[in-house]
Order: sequence, then C-alpha cells, then structure tokens
Amino acid sequence: MTELALPSRVDLLLRGGTVIDGSGAPRFLADVGVTAGAISFVGEAGRCEARQVLDVQGLVVAPGFIDSHAHDDRAVLADPGMQAKISQGVTTVINGNCGNSLAPFRKGTVPPLPLRDVAPQYQFDNFAAYLDQLQAHPASVNVASLVGHTSLRVCHVRDLGRPATQEEALAMRQAVQAALQAGALGLSTGTFYPPAAAATQEEIVAVGADLARYAGVYATHMRNEGDGVMEAIDESAAIAAALGVPLVVSHHKVMGAANFGRTVQTLDKLRLLSQTQKICQDCYPYTASSSLLRLERLQQCDDIIITSSRTMPDCAGARLSELAVRWNCSREEALGRVMPGTGMYFMMDEADVRRVLADPATIIGSDGISADSYPHPRLWGTFARVLGHYSRELGLFPLEVAVRKMTGATAMAFGLQGRGELRVGHAADITVFDAGSVIDRATYLAPTEPALGIEHVIVNGTAVWASGVPTGARPGHCLRRSDS
Ligand SMILES: [Zn+2]
Repeated sequence: MTELALPSRVDLLLRGGTVIDGSGAPRFLADVGVTAGAISFVGEAGRCEARQVLDVQGLVVAPGFIDSHAHDDRAVLADPGMQAKISQGVTTVINGNCGNSLAPFRKGTVPPLPLRDVAPQYQFDNFAAYLDQLQAHPASVNVASLVGHTSLRVCHVRDLGRPATQEEALAMRQAVQAALQAGALGLSTGTFYPPAAAATQEEIVAVGADLARYAGVYATHMRNEGDGVMEAIDESAAIAAALGVPLVVSHHKVMGAANFGRTVQTLDKLRLLSQTQKICQDCYPYTASSSLLRLERLQQCDDIIITSSRTMPDCAGARLSELAVRWNCSREEALGRVMPGTGMYFMMDEADVRRVLADPATIIGSDGISADSYPHPRLWGTFARVLGHYSRELGLFPLEVAVRKMTGATAMAFGLQGRGELRVGHAADITVFDAGSVIDRATYLAPTEPALGIEHVIVNGTAVWASGVPTGARPGHCLRRSDS
C-alpha cells in the first residue's frame, strides 16, 4: 500500500473499493484519490476528503487496461468515442501493429488492406502529423502507436514482390527515425502479408537500425504461425537481437490442426531465448483468427466467416460454406467472389490458447479490427473475456495476474512511463469492475455486444464510462515514447 504526500483534499475519491494495482500483488482494500488527472492517494479509508465521491464498495479498482495490440489508427480519429474499447475497460490503445500504421501515407500508393479507402482527412504524409492530429483531437482513450514496416514499404519500395534495395531501405530507415523522434513506440512488421512477405531479415534490420537509440521496441506478426512457426520465432528473435531491442511477438498462436499442441514447443523456445534477450508475446482469447481472405487458407481451414468484402459487402457475417451452398458453387469459387476482404478462420486449439494466455510472458491485446463491418468478437470482448471467462470461470490464473497482463506488464513491455499501475503519481487511468459478473457478450454471431460488469472507466482523471454508459468525454492523451 502506498501513502505518499497524503492530501487532505482530492478532486475525486473512489471510496471503499478493492484495489488490484497492476503489479501482480495481492488485492487490498483502499480508497483511491485523484487530483489534476493523476492518482494522488491510495490508502486507508477516511483519510481524505473530496469534491466528488464515488462509492465503489464491492468492486475492483484497477489501472485502466492497455490494449497492447490495436488496429484503431483511424478509429481514434473517426470514431473518438471508442465504445468498443472503453466498454471493456480499455484506457489506452497501442496502434500501428502487424506492419500497418496509418502514417506515413504517400499519394498514388495503395496502403495495406485494413488502411485502404481512408478519407483524405486521415492521410498523413509523416508520422509526426498523425500524432499532432491525435493531440489536437483527443479520443476517449489514450493513444500510442508503432510505425509499420508494411506501410513504409508501400511508400518507398517500387516493386513489393522483392526485397528493398539499399536506397529504399535507407528511405524507410529515415522514416522510422523520424517517427521515433515524433514519439512512435517502435517498429512493427507483418511479413506474413504479401506487401511485406518479400522483405528479408537483412531488410528489416536495416530499416530498424535506429530503434535502440530511441529505446523503441520491435513488434512482429511473424512470417509464419503454422508449420514454419519455430523458424519464424528464430527469425524474429534474430532481428530483435541484431537491433538490440525488446521483441514483442504479436498475437502468438499456432494455426492448423497439424500444429495443435505445438505451443508447448514455441513457449519453451521463447522462454529459452528470453534468457539472453527481452521477449514477450501478446494474445487474444479466442480460437478463431481474423485476417485477409486468402485462397491458400482453404485447405487448412474448413470454417471461415466473412468479416468484410470489398466486392460483396452484404456477405459480411456469412459463413463461406453457406455462401457456397447458396451460390451452388465450390468454396474456392465463393471465396473468389468475396475477395478482397477479411474473414475469421477457426484454426486454433483451445488448449494452445489457454497455454499461451497463462504463460508469464504473455500480455493481452485484442487485435480487433475496427474497420471491419462484421468484426471478430475480440474487438468488443477481449478484456472482459480474460477477466470473466479465463480467470474467474476457468481459474486459468488469479485475477491479480489477469489484471497485470493487461496493465503493468504491458506498460513495461512498451516503455509507457507513469501508466499501468495504480499508484501515487501515475496518470489516473482507472477501471472499476465487478469481479463477480464481468464477462464478454460479443460472440461470432453477435460480435458487437458490449461486455458486462465494467462499471466506471476513468482516463486522465475524467470519467469516460460511468455506471455502464459512456459519458462522451474525450480526455485521452497522445502518448509519445518516453514522455507518456
Ligand atoms: Zn497481425
């Protein structure tokens, strides 16, 4: 329990709650005081007075959740209320994952699919302009961002089917340096996807050469999460080691029935590697992934739900097998008709999902794609599902561990200073929830149902979610590396 600089008066007092502070330490009863956007008191009841008092008896008071793996680059500007996130207790999103960041954008080029068709007011030719826009037009949540290698490739590599030339790699390196200077948290890659699949290990090391100087991280959607997952881990670790920076393995999983159970090996390998370098992984709590529609996936996966289609938008939400029956054609032909687009692939084993979630080096990230017309339920459900289903119902780990995986451990992994733990001096990002009832309600059939049991969400001292409804306030900060 921390009791620094005991104030007699605070702006807001959360009275009588059970604090789970995000460090992994056991819960304790305490009042929590907020003054001028920061936590000013954590301690014994009756020790300070407040202009505004919130009775939170019987509820858990935790640091606001940090979505370590978000694709809300555009959403935080276009839909700043961010209800999908605040309704599950998220107070900070980390954007720019999987190689795809909204900035920089270059006119005349075709950005990676999730960022295509972006209106001119969301096109930024440099990363600093994007962050400045976020600062000028705050969302309900705090926003931090990685700069994406795929987005840079699209701007600077003339032929995306080959590795970058030296000059192209240098141009990307300079753009990364500018983004880091502006406040990017690090570099993300997505060599699984075509615009970056031709990039070699050498290319990525050349592009990220300045990361260490700015204490950036390297986050990667690895080249392979199926048969070649072990080699992909080796490649990712080698890149991070060459760059001298921490590695974040994005949405760690193994895909395809032939690979079920292999997370025993992948987690062993990651554990072994982390004896000599800093490594963590993020994970979402579902057995279906969500990604671009690709013909080669058909052999590995017999259950696919369409989440968006550029050619046939009305098909969002339909199962591919149902479309094939409706159109009296093969699944291949049906997929061809709805491409390009995105889909949910049921290709994971529940035991693997639990094993990854429970690993001490795993943090929670939604990987939710807010641009999809029929999103994967992870967009609205991830955090409540980890708390309610995996911690409370299945007992996979204690609530203190669940909270740490979405707060303190995440802030540490991404170098977010002054957030992630509920302690005096930290920013007042606070989520108050009912441990007995918190649960996700978003499903594959009803993917945008808000979670239950999240009572209050406070961002920088201002309520954005009060008694289960949004307040409309937009107190989010643009979090820049090292000055967050
Ligand atoms: Zn990804």
